[in-house]
Amino acid sequence: MAYDVNNIFAKILSGDIPCNPIFQDEWALAFPDISPQCPVHILVIPKNAYISMADFSAKGSAEEVAGFFRAVGKVAKNAGLDETGYRIIANHGEDAHQEVAHFHVHVLGGKDMHRGILPRPS
Ligand code: 5GP
Repeated sequence: MAYDVNNIFAKILSGDIPCNPIFQDEWALAFPDISPQCPVHILVIPKNAYISMADFSAKGSAEEVAGFFRAVGKVAKNAGLDETGYRIIANHGEDAHQEVAHFHVHVLGGKDMHRGILPRPS
């Protein structure tokens, strides 16, 4: 599967679609999810074109992977979630219902998400 240059997050990266950036550095851009599932729901995306976790983890340089995950940590910290806690999720492929084919991490927090991996419907 080839990277779709017209996916929504590619358009956000190019500035064609606005996103209210929360954080940005050499490696990553973070912005609020348009349909938040938690009081804090931020998406963090790498600056380069990767389809998903599989693509990013296989093809991203060590510098890029480290830079990206450091950015995820900074985003959570800046959102004030280090003390109260947060969950990060990266959906890959069909079973996980990945909607946008540009690798992204969801940072979720600001409420008790209960035990377990899958957030319960509120
Ligand atoms: P996925 O299911 O691919 O892991 O999550 C994609 C996420 O992107 C969804 O949570 C969805 O609400 C969010 N999203 C889709 N389109 C847009 C958009 O145009 N702007 C923003 N900020 N988020 C979007």
